[in-house]
Amino acid sequence: MRTSKNNFFRNSPARERQSIGRRKLSDHHQLNVKSWTVIGILAILVSATAEVLPSKIIIAHRGASGYLPEHTLPGKALAHGMGADYLEQDLVLSKDGIPVVLHDIVIDTVTDVAKRFPERKRADGRYYALDFTVAELKQLQVTERFDHRTGKPVFPARFPQWQGAFQIPTFEEELQFIQGLNHTTGHNAGIYPEIKSPAWHREQGKDLSRIVLQVLGRYGYRTKTDKVFLQCFDYQEVKRLRTELGYQGRLIQLLADPKSSQAGTDFAFLLSRAGLAELAQVADGIGPSLAQVISGRNGERFTFTDLVKTAHEFKLEVHPYTIRTDDLPRGVASGEELFRACLVEAGADGVFTDQPNRGVAFLRSQTMSK
Ligand code: CA
Repeated sequence: MRTSKNNFFRNSPARERQSIGRRKLSDHHQLNVKSWTVIGILAILVSATAEVLPSKIIIAHRGASGYLPEHTLPGKALAHGMGADYLEQDLVLSKDGIPVVLHDIVIDTVTDVAKRFPERKRADGRYYALDFTVAELKQLQVTERFDHRTGKPVFPARFPQWQGAFQIPTFEEELQFIQGLNHTTGHNAGIYPEIKSPAWHREQGKDLSRIVLQVLGRYGYRTKTDKVFLQCFDYQEVKRLRTELGYQGRLIQLLADPKSSQAGTDFAFLLSRAGLAELAQVADGIGPSLAQVISGRNGERFTFTDLVKTAHEFKLEVHPYTIRTDDLPRGVASGEELFRACLVEAGADGVFTDQPNRGVAFLRSQTMSK
């Protein structure tokens, strides 16, 4: 047995002693010992490499929105089946005060509301979710996002417009749906809800955050160990969620272009070192745009801002938005290049994507190849 030229451990004195003690064991047993040792080593290697990208997460942006209309339950099911770590919900209120999963406070860019309820538009010509009860919203057909002036789809190569029978889900329906899938598949996907336009909701006499927190609490999303990230662009609201409303779970401050700063949210400040230090008092992470993380290209290589590094100094997680493999920045050849740039080169902790299967495949390839 010990004459084997391929003995993996022949230079190890400890192994040598062990081997002498085992001299009488059968070849078969010895092979098993070796096999299990190798498997053990491999397991250690795999778990060690898993540590390279341990908590990196793929966030399904509005579901698997690259393949099915955004914020529909089929789109969430697909993202779940693709292995996304977190599924995103954008939340606005209905007329009867129920949170529904919609990207905008207006609903004329993803539904047939203008055809079905033509008289229900406001003075600005737009249709608002807040003017419709859930029973009415349920009558609407949801379709691939389009330009409300021209009717043309935003992404013409995506799911065909007006095809299929998609509906607006309430937040609770979606939570039940995801928790049901978690139960049946054993894949425990988290949720990533966004409070949309909280100041606008308050102007309309509604407290979106308070209602959302009640729903989250009922479904078991309360603390930092629960699989939830709550996100918002409005810094005043992020502070309010943590202080006045007493939310104990993880909070993400979304970061937009400083030019879009509004009262109470100065994105140029939040992107600065002082801003990130202050933000870290209430938030657990930031959701910057890709452009706030990747500054450009220098030949074949991406160049990066200091944002991820500085945010990490203040223990803030970084989840940039949004990788669309069917709508890449100029000069980028593949989605994988962007996943690598974000998650490996820039060191972000997760990323929003319309194609969660591509992100999941990328992370798996990293774990396997190291
Ligand atoms: Ca969002």
